[in-house]
Amino acid sequence: MESIFFSEQERAYAQEAREFFEREARPHVLAMDRENKYPFELLKKMGERKYIGVRFPAQYGGGGRDMMHEAIVNEETAAQSYALACARSVPHHCAFIIANYGSEEQKRRWLPGTFSAELITAECITEPTGGSDAARMKTRAVRQGGHYVLTGEKRFQASGAVADLFVVFAITNPEVHPSQGMSVFAVEKGHPNIVAMEEFDTLGWRGLRIVSELIFDKVEVPAANLIGTEGQGFPILMDMLNSERILVASGLLGTARTCLEIATRYSMEREAFHRPIRNFEGISFKIAEMATRLEAAQLLRTKAARMLDQGQDVTKIAAMAKGFAAENAFWVANEALQVMGGIGYTTKHDMERHFRDIRGGMVAVGTNEIMRLVVQREHYREFAEGRAE
Ligand SMILES: Cc1cc2nc3c(=O)[nH]c(=O)nc-3n(C[C@H](O)[C@H](O)[C@H](O)COP(=O)(O)OP(=O)(O)OC[C@H]3O[C@@H](n4cnc5c(N)ncnc54)[C@H](O)[C@@H]3O)c2cc1C
Repeated sequence: MESIFFSEQERAYAQEAREFFEREARPHVLAMDRENKYPFELLKKMGERKYIGVRFPAQYGGGGRDMMHEAIVNEETAAQSYALACARSVPHHCAFIIANYGSEEQKRRWLPGTFSAELITAECITEPTGGSDAARMKTRAVRQGGHYVLTGEKRFQASGAVADLFVVFAITNPEVHPSQGMSVFAVEKGHPNIVAMEEFDTLGWRGLRIVSELIFDKVEVPAANLIGTEGQGFPILMDMLNSERILVASGLLGTARTCLEIATRYSMEREAFHRPIRNFEGISFKIAEMATRLEAAQLLRTKAARMLDQGQDVTKIAAMAKGFAAENAFWVANEALQVMGGIGYTTKHDMERHFRDIRGGMVAVGTNEIMRLVVQREHYREFAEGRAE
């Protein structure tokens, strides 16, 4: 971490987090990947160290820091495993909604457990009929006296199969555009009409217990579990996605950084044609390109996190940071694997695990195409307003 972008305190904080994850994570991330085992135990340890909910107020059990610190921890977590970073950051996304839009009672009820990992959360946006066009979701919530009746089906929820609390987006008023007719609810597990039918077997992000069919069949949710006001769901979702994208970018940076480290070391040790392979420009230029792309991705991510901490609109920069990090992290992982030759394709150096995990970054939390959709929309808007840089 460079001193012109990070304070001494931030660098020390990152170093401490790096050492924690290097020391603690390995057996858990291997069990996630190989045995599909959710990392309950490690999450609790992370909770004790305030590595969950880093940026949220200490009065609710959060770390009392800012987005830059949250991003630093996500990067260091993902340096060991992107899947673990996802298990760490889903609570952030759910907590973001409760902390920023929930009532005092809701914050006291759900935030401390979320940050200590006693309460596992899942964010429920995507449905079988589509994720990119979230406004077209079909899940309905109908008010009946003191509760809402929730009916619909969600898909792809990370931590969904083990969650205690589902943060669910649903349409409350189908008569208006979803940007005004969507609401968000906290739904506690234990209702017999919530059924997680199946889990996806995924290429990467294994052990995250991602559900393939999460069915809400006339689930009665107390009206007190509505977060924010009725109809506020869509703006809340957009607000939350900005933070989520910065964290995804941070995670992908962490995993890609590890790929570069593994490949660099290997290129110095491995010999072919009587010399270390780093002496071939075909190899060392790959390393140069990987380092350059990661540097650029890090600058975008850091700018986005800093802007968010200053209260600026980050819609465009967060989409740029996420899209750029996703494409370049995957490029780095692919090239790093190539540098390793055959051994990169085996489980020996973790490269294949990182490669599989990184690929998910181009799809989750908005695909590469959707990131471009957001960036061009914001760019043209700023241009029309005479504000484009
Ligand atoms: C590992 C993983 C974890 C996930 N975790 C969660 C979670 O915790 N909670 C949750 O709710 N969801 C989660 N998702 C879902 C994820 O957000 C969606 O998969 C993603 O938003 C894409 O939606 P989709 O799969 O329905 O693809 P679709 O929306 O059907 O898109 C299919 C293709 O069409 C393209 N496309 C769509 N619209 C456009 C357009 N306007 N212009 C150009 N191209 C377009 C897309 O880019 C994509 O290539 C997760 C997904 C994965 C893979």
